[in-house]
Amino acid sequence: MADILYTYKENVYVNLTNKCDCSCKFCIRSHQNKVGDADTLWHKADPSLEDVITAIDAFHFDGYKGLVYCGYGEPTCALENLLKSAQYAKKKYGLKIRVNTNGLANLYYGRNIVPELAKTVDCVSISLNAPDKEKYMEVTRPKFENAFEGMLEFAEECKKYVPEVKFTVVDVLSEEEIQKSKELAENIGIDLRIRRFV
Ligand code: SF4
Repeated sequence: MADILYTYKENVYVNLTNKCDCSCKFCIRSHQNKVGDADTLWHKADPSLEDVITAIDAFHFDGYKGLVYCGYGEPTCALENLLKSAQYAKKKYGLKIRVNTNGLANLYYGRNIVPELAKTVDCVSISLNAPDKEKYMEVTRPKFENAFEGMLEFAEECKKYVPEVKFTVVDVLSEEEIQKSKELAENIGIDLRIRRFV
């Protein structure tokens, strides 16, 4: 059985689902089966809410900073389990909750899910991935034609409701593209973090 929780540096990560509505060129899933101390992050079937809560209850969180929904897939594709397990973890263990997301959930569900997310989530990290639509579509290969615009709108919504919002790009971009991404993030008013491609 794949790991539901795994640790990497100072955080505990929740591997909620292997579903994703993108097919990013740099996705870690295409070249390794695990991250941190996990054995494998490929689920035979995505875990149920009960499975996730059982894994949370079995974990000793001492010394870890928070719970990050990330995993081998897009966590918002399992929104109900994300929200319910995060509420549980926050209430019972006082954990800070972060979601690492591609920012396409509002397109995926056809409604604004950010207010629901903001009831429990302290930090949202959104994959900006590129400074413009053309490059974004090339590297992210999303299911939605309007994904770049949808992701930016999602980020604007997060800024309104969520205490901490960040953008990320991976350093597979050129220097010029990274610089343009910084400018775009600055114009929107969201900090940009540059992640290393492992
Ligand atoms: S959004 Fe995340 S999980 Fe989905 S393909 Fe891109 S990097 Fe992989």
